[in-house]
Amino acid sequence: MARIELRNIVRTFGGQHAVQNLDMTIEDGELLVLLGPSGCGKSTTMNMIAGLDSPTSGQILFDGVDVTQRSPHERNIAMVFQSSLLYPHLSARDNIYMSLKRSGLSKQQIEARIAHAAETVDVTRLLDKRPSQLSGGERQRVATAKAIVREPAGFLLDEPLSALDAALRLSLRAELVNLQKRIRTTMIFVTHDQIEAMTMGDRIGVMRQGRLEQIGTPTDIYNRPETLFVAGFVGTPPMNFLKGSLEQTDGKLWLVNPSIRMEIKGEFASAKPMKNVVLGIRPHLMRLSEAGSSALPLTVYAIEQLGNEAIVICDGPAGEKIRVVTQAGFTAPIGARLDANFDSAAARLYDPATERVV
Ligand code: ATP
Repeated sequence: MARIELRNIVRTFGGQHAVQNLDMTIEDGELLVLLGPSGCGKSTTMNMIAGLDSPTSGQILFDGVDVTQRSPHERNIAMVFQSSLLYPHLSARDNIYMSLKRSGLSKQQIEARIAHAAETVDVTRLLDKRPSQLSGGERQRVATAKAIVREPAGFLLDEPLSALDAALRLSLRAELVNLQKRIRTTMIFVTHDQIEAMTMGDRIGVMRQGRLEQIGTPTDIYNRPETLFVAGFVGTPPMNFLKGSLEQTDGKLWLVNPSIRMEIKGEFASAKPMKNVVLGIRPHLMRLSEAGSSALPLTVYAIEQLGNEAIVICDGPAGEKIRVVTQAGFTAPIGARLDANFDSAAARLYDPATERVV
């Protein structure tokens, strides 16, 4: 187990920044999810932690020891990839054994380790089978056994579930979290799937264009996104955004645009007046009502029935799409006029110039 620390990591490829000034600490025994769109630098970060790639500048420390110049082997970190490599001609047992081949352990110790790893991920009965005789999920579990059998200081998983079908992903996701909590090894899990990140991470680090946008617990990231990017990237359906300005009258702060004038309450009530602001509100925090109140006027564009709830997709007054989560079975004709209400204390305010909260 190890505390992994990245200090001001920069990685450039031919002058282009793949990772920029990345500072991040993963605590001992923590499951950190790195989340971000394709090309944001997640794999490059993982490769540098594993020692498969070197930072252009910056330091990597394990338990306070600088390992930046150490080889992958000297770091004792296990990596599991999207399509983790198993040797096709070897049994599951021999595949797992390959991780211990140069360990210097006795035959008995090796056998005990393999038995324990196989039991941990429940592949004991599959040990004599070859990869071609295993299902996708079973292969992934053997690959995991191969990684844990070394008793590594940390685990790096780079989209290990993305090649699997939805049902299998769901069950392996829970298995991995359960495994990580049982063996309490530091784990970094890369994904571009925000649901995977929300359900798995003790904390989530959201990356964008080589930078860490925000790091925090799933609840923090969801409820208190600090940037417009995080606000729009995490959450399904995505957060709604309304443009306007912030005006102060009678000691109160108001969001004003051609369609609404709404008092800002809660956390942002004492923000400074500003000409351009973006208000963000989650779709499930809005309520629909008949047209005619003083709320946000919407026009129904489409309705998606999800079984347990419905998503009403509307055109907002400035042509923006506004989504409202409402009860299952909700119907309204396309083009119908509705109003949406929400509590401004539940909204976030962003400065479009800095893309950060005001
Ligand atoms: P994905 O989710 O698609 O795997 P990622 O977030 O893991 O993406 P990286 O693979 O880390 O992203 O890539 C970050 C950036 O660095 C990209 O712009 C990529 O094109 C570039 N890059 C990565 N590896 C190299 C390389 N060996 N040579 C040149 N450019 C690279």
